[in-house]
Amino acid sequence: MHMEQAQKIVIVGAGIGGLASGYFLREAGRDIAIYERSDVPGGRIKVLQKGDSIVDVGTQYFHTNYVETYKLLEALGLKDQLLPIRPPVQLMRNGRGYLVKHNTIRYRMIPLGSNLKFGRIILTALRNFGRLDPYYNGPLEEFEDIDLAQYVLQKCDKEVLEFLVRPIISAFNLSDPEGESLAHFLYITKQFLTSSDTCLPTGMITLPKKLAESLPVTYNAEVEEIEVKANQVTGVRLKVGGESRRVQTNAIVCATPLKEVGRFLPVLTDEERSVTRDFKYSQFPLAVFFMKRRLPGNQWAYVFSRTENFKAAYTSDASFKCTQMVPSGKSVMQVWFAGEAGEQLVDEPDDVIIQLARREMKRVIPEFENEIESVEIVRHHTGMPRYMVGIYPRLRKFLKSVERIKGLYLVGDYYGHSTLETVVRSARRMGMG
Ligand SMILES: Cc1cc2nc3c(=O)[nH]c(=O)nc-3n(C[C@H](O)[C@H](O)[C@H](O)COP(=O)(O)OP(=O)(O)OC[C@H]3O[C@@H](n4cnc5c(N)ncnc54)[C@H](O)[C@@H]3O)c2cc1C
Repeated sequence: MHMEQAQKIVIVGAGIGGLASGYFLREAGRDIAIYERSDVPGGRIKVLQKGDSIVDVGTQYFHTNYVETYKLLEALGLKDQLLPIRPPVQLMRNGRGYLVKHNTIRYRMIPLGSNLKFGRIILTALRNFGRLDPYYNGPLEEFEDIDLAQYVLQKCDKEVLEFLVRPIISAFNLSDPEGESLAHFLYITKQFLTSSDTCLPTGMITLPKKLAESLPVTYNAEVEEIEVKANQVTGVRLKVGGESRRVQTNAIVCATPLKEVGRFLPVLTDEERSVTRDFKYSQFPLAVFFMKRRLPGNQWAYVFSRTENFKAAYTSDASFKCTQMVPSGKSVMQVWFAGEAGEQLVDEPDDVIIQLARREMKRVIPEFENEIESVEIVRHHTGMPRYMVGIYPRLRKFLKSVERIKGLYLVGDYYGHSTLETVVRSARRMGMG
């Protein structure tokens, strides 16, 4: 077994969390080493490149109310390249499309009465505006254990559930409102009320790639165990290109999804480990269709309804999101499956997913079948964090109790809500500590 003696700070994972941590710690004059299981940086910021087309197949955009992420983009000289995403979204109901722009107040696909009932949720969010930080879970005890779907049916109606709340939650988390906490939806509501979206024309991957260029990242390096003695981190065991290694260190930053933390930290108590297991992430496949030409219409995305037996939640055209990313101008249709359908389909063979996606697209765009050039499937086994009823207090307790382990620092999107800003903020807090 190879032994490294230097007491560097070890960072597990080269997603945005690990890379931002490395960047901030370097700025603070610390010596670091990043270990990444895969052979590329970025984690859930993923790209699919075909010819001269660049398609974001993980993280899609930055929200304009991000703070730390924008500072990072600025420091790396990327902020000036950001482009706003403007095209509207089309909600489908009974074969008819309803355009929804960012500042829509009255949703025409549901009756006026249902719009007014939806106002009750907006009002609840507005009343608690000061307490809602979309990028950090403060306690919202009175809302945390309320099931979102049941609440919407009680306070609003089925129209609001199916044509507003379900599409919103599937766009943000690729999940379903059933079992999800109302508190989570209130955070999301504040996020969409206070921001619009931007993206990088060279792909969202540009941010982690640029960070990784100047940081010491070892790829194909899987951390297997974090060693802790008498509540102090002492080292890490890992496999680098198949070879076992031990690195001695007294400080480790875990910048991986929470479920991974449960795997490589043997000192966790049973209750702590159960939190890492019970904290769920959405899982889903994504079918990406490269088309022979630009499809008709001037919308970026079509949103489908479960009431009409669609399995796909929505489809977005990457060539519309950012024209520079697809210079040919041909449509690149991304068919997203969400919630239960996503979980059922994620491990199905490619042809099953492709056939289903084709059938559903044909229902919306009849000429779709004849215009396909090629198709790729991307699978997300760790999508976005889900905030199920009951998880908030357990998560808070977990984050507090692991503080007993000296030299262990956690960075990730489970501190807030499914966004880069949450991750970068948690890296920033850790870097200052
Ligand atoms: C489809 C999709 C769309 C999204 N859209 C947006 C969006 O539009 N805007 C937004 O802000 N956020 C979005 N998100 C969320 C955002 O992508 C994530 O919150 C963020 O990328 C998480 O970063 P991370 O570094 O914490 O984790 P990850 O990106 O998961 O990185 C963790 C890294 O750790 C590595 N790793 C894991 N275990 C080990 C181990 N044992 N040893 C070594 N390495 C290990 C992994 O390979 C990975 O590279 C989206 C997520 C998905 C999936």
